Amino acid sequence: MDKKRCIELIKKHIILPTHSLGQNFLVDEEAARDIVQAAGITSNDAVLEIGSGLGALTEIMAEQARFVNAVEIDNHLLDALRETLLDRQNVKIICQDFLKLSKKSIFDASGKTDIVVSNLPYYVMTPIMMKLFREWDDVRTMVFTVEAAACDRVFSNPGSKHYGPLSIMSSLFGTKEILFELDSKSFHPAPHTQSVVIRFTNSCVLQSAPSALFPLVNAAFSQRRKTLLNSLSTSGLFPDGKKQVEELLEQLQIDRNTRAEQLIPDEYVRIARELIQK
Ligand code: SAM
Repeated sequence: MDKKRCIELIKKHIILPTHSLGQNFLVDEEAARDIVQAAGITSNDAVLEIGSGLGALTEIMAEQARFVNAVEIDNHLLDALRETLLDRQNVKIICQDFLKLSKKSIFDASGKTDIVVSNLPYYVMTPIMMKLFREWDDVRTMVFTVEAAACDRVFSNPGSKHYGPLSIMSSLFGTKEILFELDSKSFHPAPHTQSVVIRFTNSCVLQSAPSALFPLVNAAFSQRRKTLLNSLSTSGLFPDGKKQVEELLEQLQIDRNTRAEQLIPDEYVRIARELIQK
């Protein structure tokens, strides 16, 4: 979809792009093809797209995939989205907040999801990614367009001030890469920030991690300034409180004065494994 087409749709369907929903529509056709190509979609694949907007990515993915589940929160965009996807039998438009969507409803429409693609609404980047890591940990590849400034939260290493739940879960999901930058002119309306396209490729570690991992990591980072011992002791995850956490850290040879940002992802998995065995 080029800018002319995007503006035609906006005018015809009387759409006022909503800033608070992150509505900056992709109007660079080459970039759209590059993003879709990065996902490596085959004709057997079911794709989940989060935030389909006017369908700039959806229409290309529909040419390549077996099925596309196109989730869009804003019902004011639906007529325009349907117009873009006219004649496409292999797309299901789901008008819902992705954060409230059940995995089962997607499965019922198309079977297992192979690939996730999203030109992410920046205001909900973290909760959307965390939901994907928690519930969609079996997909093969995820490709996102994100705000360049927010990339640190994903790519930071232990010890950095940006290192946190997103860095840990994305590392455990698999390989992560920054693929290319997108100029703000690639969008309409143009956002104030630069964007980058990133890719996660599954290495199946997160899939086999215990479910206690998510509450554990969230609890550890809920009070960044405290030691791990203190934040976990009051988290409610350890019924015997501080004594239990002390014993566990000692058993795993983790210093009791360690802070959440100092632990590598694998150490969180080890704590979570012990936690479920207690
Ligand atoms: N994919 C389109 C494109 O590339 O032009 C639109 C991308 S735009 C940056 C983000 C889209 O996500 C908007 O259409 C917005 O309405 C939608 N959106 C925002 N929050 C959402 C949510 N919680 N669930 C589903 N869609 C959402």
